[in-house]
Amino acid sequence: MGFRFVALPGHRMVAHPQTLPSDERLEPELPPLQEAVERALASAQFRDVKARDRLRSLLTSDRQPTLGSTAPGQGPSAIFAQPPQDLPALLRLADELEALAKREAGERALVWNCGECGARYAVPLALARSVSIRCERCGGPVELNPGRSVGEESLIDPFLGTVNSARYALASFFREAMARGWPVLVSTEDGGGNNA
Ligand SMILES: [Zn+2]
Repeated sequence: MGFRFVALPGHRMVAHPQTLPSDERLEPELPPLQEAVERALASAQFRDVKARDRLRSLLTSDRQPTLGSTAPGQGPSAIFAQPPQDLPALLRLADELEALAKREAGERALVWNCGECGARYAVPLALARSVSIRCERCGGPVELNPGRSVGEESLIDPFLGTVNSARYALASFFREAMARGWPVLVSTEDGGGNNA
């Protein structure tokens, strides 16, 4: 399920099937990959439940959401967070999203190449120490000497990088919405061919 977030002044909310006004609203700039947004929200908590699970239950419970859609023809929206009562929980969620992004981006590795065949070896920085190994590919010796690595790189893969950019985008969106005192609404994201 893809999520679409929007925040707008409480007095400008309308009921479905009307469309929420677009002249005064905030939206996070999320990566187009729904799985990355889901993953970002799956690992963080909102009021003691996983943020993703709370969003899903808001959108799939027997009580249909009743608020206007984000665009004509789209499904109804539900309130995810309402200031002032949800302000502390939403700010904690923003903190947690950023802390997770920092932690997962933080793991770095030292890299060596085998002098014989060029095979590449990467060892997390925290585990790197001077040791000699036998190359898996050619059997030649490779010195994993931290002083003679060919460089340092992030161990993060492209998908996790996208998850992290979703985390940062959501965190700043939640903070900005709460700073303005605007409720945060969520609806299911249509399109993208993902109906899961
Ligand atoms: Zn080799």
